[in-house]
Amino acid sequence: MDDTCAVCADTLEWVAYGPCLHKEVCSTCIIRLRFICNDFYCCICKSESNTIFVTKALGDYTKMISDFKGLGEVNGSEGKVGEYWFHEGTKAYFDDFDHYNMIKAMCIAIFMCSLCLEGRKIFISEQKLYNRAQLTQHVRTGDSVIDGSESERGGFTGHPMCEFCENPFYGDNELYLHMSTDHFTCHMCQRQHPGQYEYFNNYDNLEIHFRQEHFLCEDEACLARKFIVFVTEFELKRHNAMEHGGRMSRSKRSALLQIPVSFQFRQINEHDRRGGGGHGRRSNSSGI
Ligand SMILES: [Zn+2]
Ligand SMILES: [Zn+2]
Ligand SMILES: [Zn+2]
Ligand SMILES: [Zn+2]
Ligand SMILES: [Zn+2]
Ligand SMILES: [Zn+2]
Repeated sequence: MDDTCAVCADTLEWVAYGPCLHKEVCSTCIIRLRFICNDFYCCICKSESNTIFVTKALGDYTKMISDFKGLGEVNGSEGKVGEYWFHEGTKAYFDDFDHYNMIKAMCIAIFMCSLCLEGRKIFISEQKLYNRAQLTQHVRTGDSVIDGSESERGGFTGHPMCEFCENPFYGDNELYLHMSTDHFTCHMCQRQHPGQYEYFNNYDNLEIHFRQEHFLCEDEACLARKFIVFVTEFELKRHNAMEHGGRMSRSKRSALLQIPVSFQFRQINEHDRRGGGGHGRRSNSSGI
């Protein structure tokens, strides 16, 4: 169909074309590509168009410029250049002052949602254009005038935000990926309450949680190694006896080892096999 834009399928009212003379795409689509995406290639033949010409779409009667070099030589700055108007941001020449002004205003005012642009993988012509305030509303609550009616929004209520960095993400999957790579969860709480556990901004905050809710080994080397934390007090005591026993008085150590008998046997056997001065303890344990 000659009278619709090859990209957005809207009625062709204004066309933009480069030296390849493909006049099948509307000026708005071309300007968006050039201004927002820095894409200076023809949508039809993919040849690079350094400058473009924008004119009314009149089918076979559309004004065709063949001497783009001549236009380039003028190499005007923003505004009136010879018989045309030049828009510097898109390197476009216009033969209509009102359309030039309209496009100029559009380029000053437009923002696209970069999250939607990356996350939705749709054509650039389908991307919604916002002004600054509308974009903020779109990201936060998803209900700017541009986003349309409730059914058009399809349940969209804004892009989910990381409460720590205050960065928005395209969707829940992207946010989850961010939370699990850039922030921390408690592996014990995660196991105990799947689906409802807390996130911590950094390891320091997770360590505070470990200390308050679980049994953290406060040994300096263990703190430096991180994640040396236990679900039960007994496990912490066992760890203490095994890892830090050497630095404890014999009575404290054997007190710690007084817990379950079966475990104590294993400990002592291991100790004997390593052959490190376990004689005293051996006689201690012989009473069990
Ligand atoms: Zn179009
Ligand atoms: Zn072309
Ligand atoms: Zn968006
Ligand atoms: Zn974050
Ligand atoms: Zn926890
Ligand atoms: Zn420790």
